[in-house]
Amino acid sequence: MKDANMLKDHNTFEIIFLVGFVVGSVIRKIYTAGSRGVKAEKKCSDVPDIILVGTAGVGMSVPLLYLFTPWLDFANYNMPGWCGWAGTVVFAGAIFMLWKSHADLGRNWSVTLRIAGQHSLVTSGVYRHIRHPMYTAHLLWAIAQGLLLANWLAGWAFLVLSIPLYLIRIPKEEQMMIEHFGEEYRAYKSRTGRLIPRMWK
Ligand code: SAH
Repeated sequence: MKDANMLKDHNTFEIIFLVGFVVGSVIRKIYTAGSRGVKAEKKCSDVPDIILVGTAGVGMSVPLLYLFTPWLDFANYNMPGWCGWAGTVVFAGAIFMLWKSHADLGRNWSVTLRIAGQHSLVTSGVYRHIRHPMYTAHLLWAIAQGLLLANWLAGWAFLVLSIPLYLIRIPKEEQMMIEHFGEEYRAYKSRTGRLIPRMWK
């Protein structure tokens, strides 16, 4: 049971999760602020897409309910200690990928699917071998969440609730990119991996 002494009641891995959560949120906030002035040339996000993003966001936020209220404690379980350390490594990788993909995409990044004015196709940095490193970062985050938090709901909500995003949004985003960049994107697609790097030719 959690009480009002917030951090005092949390184990090492819950604290590591919270620190990562804050760092990841700050990175996102900084780039969201930077993308505000960029005008869209074409908007491709519809209501289902916004619902998908919102649903994944809920999965990402369930841990706050677990960490700061006793409401989800009925779904606690015991996890071996190595899971927490593995989760720490995976979470560090997720945060690095989150920062690097935002930094490499620069002004081309947006939460919604859109083509910005003077949009350029980024194929370097972390985009050299993976087409969707930001989604890879979210997938790693979701796995780390499960390894760090010993609670069925808080631990695995993000992974489960973000599956539709990967299945529905990625094909839609790639279609948008093909319509805008044509052969350039097709060629990029053929030499890169979707979420896992394609290192071979
Ligand atoms: N799917 C990418 C980016 C997610 S942000 C990733 O996971 O890293 C979504 C926006 O990024 C889309 O609106 C699209 O316009 C833009 N985008 C996606 N891939 C891009 C690329 N290779 N170059 C430039 N912009 C890209």
